Amino acid sequence: MNNAIYNFLIPANEPILGYKKGSKGRVLLEAELNRQRLNPIEIPLIIGGKEIRTNQTGQVRMPHNHSQVLATYYKATEKEVNLAIDAALKAHCIWADLSWTVRAAILLKAAELISGKYRAVMNAATMLGQSKNIYQSEIDAVCETIDFLKFNAYFASRIYEMQPSSAFNQLNKMEFRPLEGFVFTVSPFNFTSIASNLNMAPVMMGNTTVWKPATTSLLSNYYLMKIFQEAGLPDGVINFVPGSGALIGKTALQSPDLAGIHFTGSNEIFNFLWSEVSKHLPHYKSYPRLVGETGGKNFVFVHPSATAKEVAVNAYRGAFEFQGQKCSAVSRMYVPVSLWAEIKNELLRIGEDARMGDINDPMNFINAVIDEASFDNCLNYINFAEKSEEAEIILGGNGNKSKGFFVEPTIIVTSNPKFKTMVEEIFGPILTIFIYDDNKLEETIGLCNTTSPYGLTGAVFSRDRVAASNICEQLRYAAGNFYINDKPTGAIVGLQPFGGSRASGTNDKAGGEFNLIRWISPRTIKETFQPASEYRYDYMIE
Ligand code: NAD
Repeated sequence: MNNAIYNFLIPANEPILGYKKGSKGRVLLEAELNRQRLNPIEIPLIIGGKEIRTNQTGQVRMPHNHSQVLATYYKATEKEVNLAIDAALKAHCIWADLSWTVRAAILLKAAELISGKYRAVMNAATMLGQSKNIYQSEIDAVCETIDFLKFNAYFASRIYEMQPSSAFNQLNKMEFRPLEGFVFTVSPFNFTSIASNLNMAPVMMGNTTVWKPATTSLLSNYYLMKIFQEAGLPDGVINFVPGSGALIGKTALQSPDLAGIHFTGSNEIFNFLWSEVSKHLPHYKSYPRLVGETGGKNFVFVHPSATAKEVAVNAYRGAFEFQGQKCSAVSRMYVPVSLWAEIKNELLRIGEDARMGDINDPMNFINAVIDEASFDNCLNYINFAEKSEEAEIILGGNGNKSKGFFVEPTIIVTSNPKFKTMVEEIFGPILTIFIYDDNKLEETIGLCNTTSPYGLTGAVFSRDRVAASNICEQLRYAAGNFYINDKPTGAIVGLQPFGGSRASGTNDKAGGEFNLIRWISPRTIKETFQPASEYRYDYMIE
């Protein structure tokens, strides 16, 4: 019998370790980096808890040293996708019926495993496979992953607490049912924590998933899956299905049991999935829930009262950390002409100082972009700017893919506020700056609001607090995460719930109750103690 009501404490965010030279954390990490580098592994599919190997394989390579293979992975065919759907549906019966506290216990156990036993494993896999330096990996693969797990358990407890009032002649209750069917989760390469959360948020609420991980983050994602299993996740609750997105997506969307899609990635793919779901609508048992966080064209808006050094440091970090491959990365900036000389000098000074290279050298601030397609895409934009009379490249502008996919942090200054690189998402280390006349502040705020279709993150730098407030108001829909005097990257679970609107997604704020609510379909149950025994109302009785 279980009649306990559990109260979780509000979690504390996972502390970020310093990894100073010679520290225990650093020694363990270096050993693990060597182990993973020297011992390529096999990555099977994991369906219904069983490892499956098909006759189609691919390789996972280091972005910063692409001749080096980290793993051979097996690709799903249509048959395995259908097996995964069956396994998810089978597990749904048991998982949905379990006490939510047992589900929470598994999430919390996974968080503890990542915090301790597997901290170095998760960091090494993310550093080697996705080319993140120590700090970028620690805040993602470890801290944010743990925060998502703990906060989801806590926020779920808050949702389950929300019960309607009962009276003494009746009992009312809300049953927070998981969705009926399976959730298709599709994760991007850039955050290990997002891959975890896309699965674990629906799973916390009693759902089961078919997971299509990004091929370029398979190493860390496979270790995650193994950790979930070790934490006690029953077979079939999450089914790990690497392979071709097009094939897996097509097969998953054809199932009448598709109950939802939890997606993070580009607009192109989310729009495709949404339109495919629309086409199949009459065929589904329920209306699938569609939750997608997509692209961004994130801005820094500089007010004439801003402090130049603060702007430059935050713009540089915001634009170039993890090679500009954060969904929240700064990629356009508006600077008043009165501050430009000072900001430019500072940007160039940092640009000369910051080093680029292999993740094994901790002095490198910048590492490689994820793959050749991304490298080529960045270089195409740089070439476009080089040829344009409306643009000048003041920093970087070169790339080299002979050993790894290295693109120099690049700053373009444009005279056209609607220049291609001010509008389109590039997803690489390229920042475009428009310098405005101080007298045209209002006009420039308007430009910032209307230049790109996205609405993910943005920041204003201003010492004038009233001006900052006004800009914040005027840019209300330009960003779902807005920052004042801070870079627009680095949102922390529980403190700055994350997500944007406009073309940036459905804005369901990962890591909080808004997101979790999308994965339940509540049932209201009323029980009366005074059933009616007369069909007429009192006033009808003479
Ligand atoms: P992507 O869209 O190329 O890939 C995302 C996932 O979709 C991958 O797993 C891919 O294999 C899969 N996929 C591809 N075709 C598919 C299909 N037809 N059916 C089903 N799945 C398919 O994105 P990416 O390059 O991995 O990530 C970068 C993008 O993600 C950027 O646009 C970035 O802005 C966005 N992003 C957004 C957020 C956010 O919170 N808004 C967070 C992280 C990344």
